[in-house]
Amino acid sequence: MDQSDNFEQDQGPMDYYKESIRLYYYNIVLHSYLERVNQEKNEIKSKLQKFQVLEDQESDISLEDKRKRNRRSAVEIPRSHVCTISNCNKSYGSEGSLMQHMKIKHGMVMNQDKIGQVLDQFRFQYSSNSN
Ligand SMILES: [Zn+2]
Repeated sequence: MDQSDNFEQDQGPMDYYKESIRLYYYNIVLHSYLERVNQEKNEIKSKLQKFQVLEDQESDISLEDKRKRNRRSAVEIPRSHVCTISNCNKSYGSEGSLMQHMKIKHGMVMNQDKIGQVLDQFRFQYSSNSN
């Protein structure tokens, strides 16, 4: 095959034509790649926004807990909703706050049955603590 000869003969204006086609397809590939990266970026961005909203809510809740503690003496504080994860002794004023904490800090996504089980566990813990 004398393709190399043909190629050399095609030098000149034909090379620019080939180059423009090559760049055209390269551009399409690059564009779709950029689209994918941009999509990923938006996904990460929305996840980050959701996380920040949850984090703000949690800090509001712990502020509320602090105010409650300041109003009452230490003995009076009901430790009704304590996190059961080891090395995490956070306690919350409501079941919902605790669930939110476990979801955010420990990545626990629970279905209704699981939530019920965990809440029963907390209720048991509280009743045995108060005795
Ligand atoms: Zn915890």
